[in-house]
Amino acid sequence: MSNRRAGRAAVRCMYDGRRAECDGSAQVVRGGHPLCRPCERRGSSTEAPGGGVVWGLLVELREAHEEQARAAARVRDLAARTNAAGASWSLIGQALDVSRQAAQKRYGGGGR
Ligand SMILES: [Zn+2]
Repeated sequence: MSNRRAGRAAVRCMYDGRRAECDGSAQVVRGGHPLCRPCERRGSSTEAPGGGVVWGLLVELREAHEEQARAAARVRDLAARTNAAGASWSLIGQALDVSRQAAQKRYGGGGR
């Protein structure tokens, strides 16, 4: 199913593709910027208090985004299955707080 782990690996180092030693995968935040370990070791970038808070929020944001994507996929799947099982788009729309037209347009897959 989901081939991507939540959190860490998904955030890219700000020097990704711009420094030879950069491994691309951000592990820490310094001064509000995501950095990989090699770039962090190279240092010189601004050390800011609150970096840990930013990093924590960034990881949380990423996780929420991934949850949202999973939930959206589940809604799509269930809407299609509910329709295939015999429910009208009007009923499905009611369940999703949208109009019949919106439900069919979003989840009808162009007429199955
Ligand atoms: Zn880097």
